[in-house]
Amino acid sequence: MTLSLDLTTDATRDALRARAAAPVKGELIGLTREELAEALVTSGVVPERQAKMRVQQLWHWLYVRGVSDFADMFNISKDLRAELAKHFTIARPEIVEEQISSDGTRKWLFRFPPRGAGRPVEIETVYIPEEGRGTLCISSQVGCTLTCSFCHTGTQKLVRNLTAEEILAQLMTARDRLGDFPDRDTPAGAIVPAEGRKVSNIVMMGMGEPLYNFEAVKKALLIASDGDGLALSKRRITLSTSGVVPEIFRTGEEIGVMLAISLHATNDDLRDLLVPINKKYPLKELVDACRNYPGLSNARRITFEYVMLKDVNDSLEDAKALVKLLKGVPAKINLIPFNPWPGTNYQCSDWETIEKFADYINNAGYASPIRTPRGRDILAACGQLKSESERMKKSERLALEAMMIAGHGEA
Ligand code: SAH
Ligand code: SF4
Repeated sequence: MTLSLDLTTDATRDALRARAAAPVKGELIGLTREELAEALVTSGVVPERQAKMRVQQLWHWLYVRGVSDFADMFNISKDLRAELAKHFTIARPEIVEEQISSDGTRKWLFRFPPRGAGRPVEIETVYIPEEGRGTLCISSQVGCTLTCSFCHTGTQKLVRNLTAEEILAQLMTARDRLGDFPDRDTPAGAIVPAEGRKVSNIVMMGMGEPLYNFEAVKKALLIASDGDGLALSKRRITLSTSGVVPEIFRTGEEIGVMLAISLHATNDDLRDLLVPINKKYPLKELVDACRNYPGLSNARRITFEYVMLKDVNDSLEDAKALVKLLKGVPAKINLIPFNPWPGTNYQCSDWETIEKFADYINNAGYASPIRTPRGRDILAACGQLKSESERMKKSERLALEAMMIAGHGEA
């Protein structure tokens, strides 16, 4: 990362302090249309007969135009705008820091209110631009209840779930910063896809286990994919889970987004160590749940993430076992170079080992995103991001994209 901006100026601090001292206002972002109507009516701001129309207006301003101030809602009377502002907020969260790498990768550190956690919480969101798309990696929890042994987040306790509003705020603020709403300019020099939306894809691969925060994640993703609002295609939204089997069917049925599974091992003994939730929901149950994922087809495959850990799960035998395990499941395999963090006992597999592993699964018919020649890229992903990122080519960033490092180490 080469450029670091501290956006917390004195003025912002004062404004935030004033906000903290003021009575808590209802948040409108993250509410369903029904909840939004109810909030408007019960506060007395909007008469019941107008509720539907006002919801439609607000929905458009919030999610199509991306406004974060009622004053900008020009087709709403001044009086009503003032009333709305008195009772509600649509303000963006505090950005503690925005880092921009020379290859266009952006990382934001957001601060959210405590909401019972004792003190304000901070989470990271990462944006990775590529030739034809821009992917945003979103967090669902602060910390995680699970303790995957290779994951940095796994060493941190769960502080709290994020709300639907906070999950959406990551997307909306990223779009603000990239000029990805109508009538907004993209900052000079920003690296974004040449055409189309700047944020075209989202992955729930930041901090936390999204299926342990099901309701908030569901609400946020349904709003993110709402055709009259943020309008992201569900095929461009991927939810990654460590394998919370009882929630997998519902994810397809009620949210309908693409699924990724953090597999990382092909037998229960090893997976129990790497992804301890496996003790509760072992591989057979997990793979069965995948087979039954609603909407699964060759055109809509499940992504299996597999972190490459030196001498742990990276042998050719493991590759064979992986192919065998996934037989008959419409699958993509994402090999993730392990991203080391201080205190970890694991190492990233050697490049040659990754290459052999990838060749085997490629030959078995799986398009694996790690292809030759990608050595430099792998090096970068294995903890040398700072020095190597400048030389990374757009086409060589899949390894980084695959691991979506938010909250997972130091890079
Ligand atoms: N909790 C969810 C989503 C967040 S993790 C899940 O586990 O799927 C997103 C991906 O990053 C997961 O596949 C996770 O296993 C992987 N990951 C975690 N720590 C990593 C590390 N240090 N290096 C590489 N990948 C890591
Ligand atoms: Fe939690 Fe996912 Fe990390 Fe496991 S890999 S500890 S589920 S964030």
